[in-house]
Amino acid sequence: MMIDFEIPAELVELGARVRAFVETEVVPYERDPRVTAHGPSDELRDELIAKARAAGLLSIQQRPGGMTHLEQAVVFEAAGWSTLGPVAMNCAAPDEGNMFLLSKVANPEQAAEFLQPIIDGARRSVFAMTEPDGAGSDPSQLRTTAVRDGDKFVINGRKWLITGAINADTWIIMADVVDEGATLFLCHGNAPGIVIERVMNTMDRNYVEGHCVVRFEDLVLPESAVLGAVGEAFRYAQLRLAPARLTHCMRWLGAAARAQSIAVEHAKTRMSFGKPIGEHQGVGFMLADNEIALQQCRLMIWWACWTLDKGGKGRHESSMVKSMVSEELFKVADRCVQVLGGMGISDETPVAAIFTDLRAFRLYDGPTEVHKYAIARQLLRAK
Ligand SMILES: Cc1cc2nc3c(=O)[nH]c(=O)nc-3n(C[C@H](O)[C@H](O)[C@H](O)COP(=O)(O)OP(=O)(O)OC[C@H]3O[C@@H](n4cnc5c(N)ncnc54)[C@H](O)[C@@H]3O)c2cc1C
Repeated sequence: MMIDFEIPAELVELGARVRAFVETEVVPYERDPRVTAHGPSDELRDELIAKARAAGLLSIQQRPGGMTHLEQAVVFEAAGWSTLGPVAMNCAAPDEGNMFLLSKVANPEQAAEFLQPIIDGARRSVFAMTEPDGAGSDPSQLRTTAVRDGDKFVINGRKWLITGAINADTWIIMADVVDEGATLFLCHGNAPGIVIERVMNTMDRNYVEGHCVVRFEDLVLPESAVLGAVGEAFRYAQLRLAPARLTHCMRWLGAAARAQSIAVEHAKTRMSFGKPIGEHQGVGFMLADNEIALQQCRLMIWWACWTLDKGGKGRHESSMVKSMVSEELFKVADRCVQVLGGMGISDETPVAAIFTDLRAFRLYDGPTEVHKYAIARQLLRAK
């Protein structure tokens, strides 16, 4: 089967509609004081969600019939033009990936109770896997335990870097059921036994309510809280991660393209040594390298989407795309900072924020080295 790069006219139109929404309704909020050192506040999120709802663009990926991965690539890139765009449209992490996972694995009762309120934009969700001294790049180091007690489970452990934990209602928790394996559990955020220790101070500021350290202290959950089957957490996590790491690439591609557009405009008008800086080869080459990298990233993303849309698992492809795209977009943002001169490191433009957020992207949903490790392992083990 050939890859067809022709994007249907309706999809081009939808992408343009999303971009127009983000430019007119969302970008003006970028300097809102409710974009804090710990990301946008819930209050700001609610306001943005109302705007996307009114524009008919809320949770667009969950519309009846869903969206293909390629459709998401076009729409999420447009949403990512502002880092607040995906927040408004409810297609930001971790909710977007959690909605995907729950729509695949939750039973009808769980879907009604935990998934629908997220789709409606009324509630947020968390995915709690990473631990300070256990699960990280290697989730098999999981230390949080779930011990059976009659028909209940008692969960104990400590997690960190848990995005959006404050005020989140739907919790997906990974814990090791002793002798039966890693398992995902679903519960509400107000369940006794969930303790939020603190919000971490991190260099990124694009995720709602930041990232937390949390503790589970004798969190008691019924059998019905198991998401899918006991012992299947890693399989479900992979189901979530392959498309989720691609959607990150899509959104960040939009943000990096925005940084490039700002750098290009600046290079046209800022003068030095008698001409616009863009006319100096050193600056022109940076802009050209950016343009090449952005298009490379876009095509890599579309290629992985094409694989998934054909029914493939896309695990290997999404690893290749995530490692390449996160590294290249970071370099794009870095060159944009350079082109802007001293202004580049200030908050006079959104470029500095895009740069620091892209630094974080090289770590989450699999650090670059871990994807390369997986790619190399597959190559070396292939018969
Ligand atoms: C902004 C942000 C948001 C996040 N949100 C969440 C969340 O909501 N929920 C959640 O559960 N987690 C979340 N995380 C955690 C994230 O998934 C982990 O940071 C990531 O899996 C890496 O794990 P770690 O931090 O423990 O690093 P480690 O696993 O300790 O890795 C440290 C270093 O060792 C390298 N390394 C590890 N293994 C190998 C290998 N085989 N080959 C070569 N190098 C290797 C890594 O590349 C890295 O450079 C978030 C992280 C960030 C930065």
